[in-house]
Amino acid sequence: MTTHDVEIAIVGAGFSGLGAAVKAQENSFDDYLVLDRGTDFGGTWRDNTYPGAACDVPSHLYSYSFALNPDWTRSYSHQEEIHRYINAVADSHGIGDKTWFGTEVTRARWDSDADRWIVDVDRDGTAVQVRARHLVGGIGPLCEPNLPDIDGIGAFGGKIIHSARWDHDYDFAGKRVAVIGTGASAIQLVPHLAEAAGHLEVYQRTAPWIIPRTERPYLPAENWAFKHVPGLQNLIRGSIYTANEVVAAGMTYAPKALKPVEALCRANIFKGIRDPELRAKVTPTFAVGCKRILKSNDWYPALDRPNVDLVTTGIDRITAEAIVTADGVEHPVDAIVVATGFHVTDSPVFETIHGADGRSLARVWDEIGMQAYKGTFVHGFPNMTLLIGPSTGLGHTSMVYMIESQLNYLVDYLEKTKAEGIVRTDVRLDVQKKYNADLQDKLKRSVWVTGGCSSWYKDAHGDITTLWPGFTFDFRNATRRFDIAAYDVVRGARTPKKTTEPASVTS
Ligand code: NAP
Repeated sequence: MTTHDVEIAIVGAGFSGLGAAVKAQENSFDDYLVLDRGTDFGGTWRDNTYPGAACDVPSHLYSYSFALNPDWTRSYSHQEEIHRYINAVADSHGIGDKTWFGTEVTRARWDSDADRWIVDVDRDGTAVQVRARHLVGGIGPLCEPNLPDIDGIGAFGGKIIHSARWDHDYDFAGKRVAVIGTGASAIQLVPHLAEAAGHLEVYQRTAPWIIPRTERPYLPAENWAFKHVPGLQNLIRGSIYTANEVVAAGMTYAPKALKPVEALCRANIFKGIRDPELRAKVTPTFAVGCKRILKSNDWYPALDRPNVDLVTTGIDRITAEAIVTADGVEHPVDAIVVATGFHVTDSPVFETIHGADGRSLARVWDEIGMQAYKGTFVHGFPNMTLLIGPSTGLGHTSMVYMIESQLNYLVDYLEKTKAEGIVRTDVRLDVQKKYNADLQDKLKRSVWVTGGCSSWYKDAHGDITTLWPGFTFDFRNATRRFDIAAYDVVRGARTPKKTTEPASVTS
């Protein structure tokens, strides 16, 4: 088997993995390698190409602070433009030269004798072993599509498409189509399918709260100003950021303060739907903010179309040609679109990462819950940093801000451990436990706990382990410096730097 030695292995070439590569390079940690199973940069923004895929965070904030883009064409960007942006950032920093695409990590394990990560990869069908001092997980929580566990789904004889793996060759024109799910992806794709399909049934288990989307194209004069007026883009970023943090305060500390948002959502329903019965069906029964607050102007009008039915009776099973609801009614369909989200707290990737005692991340988190220290380091998994790790997700603002906070922490960790000759860094279990107990304590008052909904924000233990409870600037402050006292460290002689050519050995 071929082996390849690097100082830093970065898994994933999406927003977080690419950011890690750029920051490593900028800070003279040039010996890195990015591994990604796809064909280019973009992660979730490469994979989610369903019609209408777009971001619900304004463009100026949903971008790296170190790569502002004056050329955004709209106030909210669509998938293709974000995908192009991410690839342009990669190109301008030359990250592609140190990236292996078509490369799937099959297993990663910590080698305590060598103080290195042994990362087994499948590179276009060839097994390669990458050995790295540091492992950076930029795998993202939205990468493994979740197929609903519905009786008979495997036997469906028509077309099944997951929103994150769109089949652009399938022609929906005139077909009988069902969409399962009414989350962030479904509300974007349904209005498009409603136009193409002969008949569309939308299966809603839980109605989401939806505010209007204030999207518009930018005028040429605005793009000119973004490019030429010093500080303008940062001013816009700052104002969007500040407005969003007000929502964070409501979600975390005072859910009742979100009542005006609920009023806005109710007005959106009233405006978009004429039928009082349908209005009642789409009105959520939990507190606004408990699940992600969605943004759309065309979801309610789509549901109000004559060729669209909203089905709120639960799905009992799926047969070769129909969906059968709990009331025994058969709904014949040609195609089923599953917009049922991702394996966030139970990603199969967690099974493939094995720490110092040989246990997988999945097993460890099964036992103690999905936890990390500062969303980044996990006890028992030395020298591994997770980007968008546990308790870093957001329901109100840009994940790129959180990623950049973690990148500060990552760079400071790399610098401090290098300066002090540290070869092994493992967060102390007592520190990790206390950190997470404090987070859970803080969450008690939050809308995610008190709001009366069930959501993927919770792990198998019923704890909210995906979200950051508070202001994002608090997370930025917490990750500004690598706090070495929180870690058990081992100092030692560093392995001499490898030559640029990978060594080949047979196993
Ligand atoms: P999601 O928010 O998890 O929504 C999944 C939907 O499928 C929910 O309506 C869920 O119902 C339903 N569902 C799941 N399993 C089901 C089953 N067995 N039977 C019936 N219904 C079922 O997934 P998503 O819409 O793909 O979005 C995932 C995340 O991606 C979002 O939260 C967001 O973070 C991100 N996203 C962001 C954007 C953006 O604009 N930035 C756009 C798309 C996605 P319940 O609610 O009852 O569970």
